[in-house]
Amino acid sequence: MAGLPKPVRDAALDRQIEQLAEWIAKARHMVVFTGAGISTESGIPDFRSPGGIWTKMMPVHFSDYLADPQARRLSWVRRFEMEETWNAVKPNAGHKAVADLASRGIVKAVITQNIDNLHQAAGMTDEQVIELHGNTRRAGCLTCGARAEIADIRRHFDTHGEAPDCRFCGGIIKTATISFGQAMPESEMARAHAASRHADLFLVAGSSLSVYPAASFPLLAQEAGARLVILNREPTPQDRAADLVLNHEIGPTLEAALGLLAQGCPPALDR
Ligand code: NAD
Repeated sequence: MAGLPKPVRDAALDRQIEQLAEWIAKARHMVVFTGAGISTESGIPDFRSPGGIWTKMMPVHFSDYLADPQARRLSWVRRFEMEETWNAVKPNAGHKAVADLASRGIVKAVITQNIDNLHQAAGMTDEQVIELHGNTRRAGCLTCGARAEIADIRRHFDTHGEAPDCRFCGGIIKTATISFGQAMPESEMARAHAASRHADLFLVAGSSLSVYPAASFPLLAQEAGARLVILNREPTPQDRAADLVLNHEIGPTLEAALGLLAQGCPPALDR
């Protein structure tokens, strides 16, 4: 009879997970920085892995969105095509582990590049989640900021072939996500800056660390005194600076670290 598949972990990874668990146990102000990689285990493709979104479509630049009704239509068609996915996706073990640490007061903030709302779906509050690139579940007017419901926009689009203008000021409506070429949200950037500077442990989970200015926060935290841990399938440009790098899947790794925490302090590392 064929045996069960071998566990993916090896001794070196086990040691790294013990180290992570020990640092989590000691942390008083842990900050988690997440990218598309934390949501792939929920079935949302990332951008840069093979088969990722960018191998299939180019993003619409913000200036094109403003200037070109055709670019706006393309954006909305893509958004509506994703609606079923956004409605169906659920937080995975990685999101749940981070939310668990937040509920225990260890994780003070999540700085996320994701737009999928899955940290909140895992139980984190809006105050705990800093969304650098916005949230695709919401939409609003680019001029006056009034909120617009995606379902209303879709009904209008299905009838008229384009999204409605803002019903208050006539401005252009857009999903509440930050497109390429669009200014970063000031208040979120300030919150992320403050959280990074206060961190004693800064965990990157599932980011290629190639999109700036978001990718500047890990090094900012480290300069301000935090330990920097990078948990990502593939190498990142900041691995050399990190105090610990784990090239492994996020969900199983964080579950294993939390398992060690549940058993009490991780075993001594100098055995
Ligand atoms: P990215 O695609 O550049 O990098 C994701 C990284 O995660 C890759 O290095 C990949 O190796 C790693 N990864 C993927 N699955 C993993 C797993 N299960 N365990 C461990 N590592 C895993 O993503 P990014 O750094 O977030 O930057 C791309 C931009 O894409 C962001 O600005 C974000 O706004 C946007 N984006 C968001 C979503 C989402 O909201 N879920 C999805 C796609 C893209």
